[in-house]
Amino acid sequence: MDATETTCPRHPDTATRLSCTQCGTPICPRCAIDAPVGQKCPDCVRQHRAAVAKGKPRQYRKGAAAGAAAAVLAGVVLPIVLGISFVGLIATGFLGYGIAHAVLWGAEGNRAETFRNLALGFALVMVAGAFTVRFGTPVPGGLRGVLVYAAAAYGAYARFNR
Ligand SMILES: [Zn+2]
Ligand SMILES: [Zn+2]
Repeated sequence: MDATETTCPRHPDTATRLSCTQCGTPICPRCAIDAPVGQKCPDCVRQHRAAVAKGKPRQYRKGAAAGAAAAVLAGVVLPIVLGISFVGLIATGFLGYGIAHAVLWGAEGNRAETFRNLALGFALVMVAGAFTVRFGTPVPGGLRGVLVYAAAAYGAYARFNR
């Protein structure tokens, strides 16, 4: 073993020259994880993923603002397309998709569950608002009421799972 070689703390029988680019802990090829910059140890990768899943406050502000704006816009269009049955359902799905797209844009591409739920919430609010405008109640009853909510939710989910 020369001066720059050390052993991996996770695999003490493995000599290595690699170290985590973030914390400097020695890592061996078995536990090194490729990151955009260099290689990281499993601990740093786990921390990074947790931070991404939590999201930054800026991503929440922008995601919520963009989603709300899209939901209002879509809510204006939705009562017009609602009367056209099947085509209306597809259009509703696209509106949900568009709302999720706006949230994702605001969240800087963060697909964490919190942002998906935010998009889903805006999509459902859009439907509730449009139903209230058109029928005077957010729950007009019957299969169509359920289907329109489902279409909006599906569109939002589809954007996040793409
Ligand atoms: Zn590390
Ligand atoms: Zn190792």
